[in-house]
Amino acid sequence: MPADARNLRYIIIGAGMAGLLAGIRLRERGEDNFVIYEKGDSVGGTWRENTYPGVACDTPAHSYSYSFAFNPEWSAFYAPGPEIRNYFESMAERYGMHQFIQFNTEIGSCRWDGERWHVKTKDGREDVADVLVAATGVLHHPNTPAIPGLENFQGASFHSARWDHSIDYADKRVGVVGNGSTGVQIVAALSGNVQKLVHFQRSPQWIMPCPDTRYSDEDKAAFRDDPDRIEDVRSGPEAQARRGRFLAAIIDADSPELAEIQSIVEKNLEDSIRDPELREKLRPDYRAACKRMVFSPNYYEKVQDPSVYVDTSGIERVEANGVLMRDGTFHELDVLVLATGFKADAFVRPMTITGRDGVDLNQLWDVHPKAYYAVTIPDFPNFFMLNGPTGPVGNFSLIDIAERQWNYIEQLVSLLREGKYSAVAPTQAALQTYEQKRTEAAKKTVFASGCSSWYLDADGVPQVWPWPYEYFMEVMDKPKLEDYSLTPAA
Ligand code: NAP
Repeated sequence: MPADARNLRYIIIGAGMAGLLAGIRLRERGEDNFVIYEKGDSVGGTWRENTYPGVACDTPAHSYSYSFAFNPEWSAFYAPGPEIRNYFESMAERYGMHQFIQFNTEIGSCRWDGERWHVKTKDGREDVADVLVAATGVLHHPNTPAIPGLENFQGASFHSARWDHSIDYADKRVGVVGNGSTGVQIVAALSGNVQKLVHFQRSPQWIMPCPDTRYSDEDKAAFRDDPDRIEDVRSGPEAQARRGRFLAAIIDADSPELAEIQSIVEKNLEDSIRDPELREKLRPDYRAACKRMVFSPNYYEKVQDPSVYVDTSGIERVEANGVLMRDGTFHELDVLVLATGFKADAFVRPMTITGRDGVDLNQLWDVHPKAYYAVTIPDFPNFFMLNGPTGPVGNFSLIDIAERQWNYIEQLVSLLREGKYSAVAPTQAALQTYEQKRTEAAKKTVFASGCSSWYLDADGVPQVWPWPYEYFMEVMDKPKLEDYSLTPAA
């Protein structure tokens, strides 16, 4: 134990990328009084849940790695999902995390009693901690669409995050509903490998072309020999230019950067799709990057395979043996995949989190989830979120984001450790000012330029980080203690 005034106990919820990060960082400073509760049977979070064909991360692999654990062995510029899952498994091993993780343990409720957090597992156990860290992921709870008749389908039907690996797909007629990043990856992977594939698209997506760069043994050896090469992929001039261009584009929908992105995706569509009818079906009527940008090296090529049919006429209903479209077309299907996204506003829910004086987080988040700079909440002392609401999401490395958030949390927790304070939470005024500024800026982003997406709340306001990434880095560098209410230790 470090020589601190208080030996704090920590409870971390979730053993995905962010929960592991918290555990590793705690271990690094000699802490061992913590537990990570994980409802699944292994680590990896989203990469454990999403095992669909073609699953990959469209953030460059070397950026999608912990800053303290580069991986020269990535097989490609964009790593496949199973490799990412293995990376997190190996991180849990390397940093001795298994002794701290309780698998198959879902948390039902967390309650602040005025001094500490009381956490109840769904199987009736109780635990108590000074510090509670929610590392529960962003896109976690599958969104099952309200398509009439879905329950009548007699074939196999499942959400993309619950892929059925027991099926031999080669001789099957498969329908995929949804064309976000997930649907696009699934269709590109299944095209040519199933008997027939129907891609049901409610609204088209702009597709950003990206290279399908595989790393050779020589490349990997070079990364191994010279970590600066990895650093260069992460934050060299090319990476900075890419991030800068994208950020300038999303922050200001009238920027030259967005115009450039728009021309790239339009050219991609024009150059790639030969059939004019299909080209028009795939042409969105909103601006590039309004929905979360989809990157694909091969979707346009794969969707033109003779075995694939794109249907944009709208689903009327699902029947026992297929899908009836509004124009009367009927697609007979054996498998129906729902790549229909996630309940993006859930965050820590459906857990019940009760803060000071019985304040219920669910009620507080009735309209939409709010958190001061995405990390802390008034009346929820010593409660910290990694990748919480309104943080940078979308086309960024959530690992870099979580690492910066942990740096911020660590500084607040050190106030407790030093023994001068027993509780730390932001003030209501601080959250209000943040939310007001954030909402004003969010309304000007490209996400609010006229499309539907999981970024938008019920009022159509993007629930996103609307400022430059540099500002996020600056804010996370050092908490503004004047925005916090600090309870002196007794
Ligand atoms: P998504 O982006 O929310 O897309 C959901 C899709 O389902 C949309 O095309 C949507 O159509 C459609 N849909 C929803 N309800 C429907 C209904 N009732 N009828 C017909 N269509 C319906 O979900 P996702 O593709 O799973 O991606 C979610 C996020 O996960 C991404 O934005 C990304 O952040 C992350 N992700 C990342 C990667 C990566 O490579 N890094 C890969 C996969 C996912 P509308 O557009 O018309 O609403």
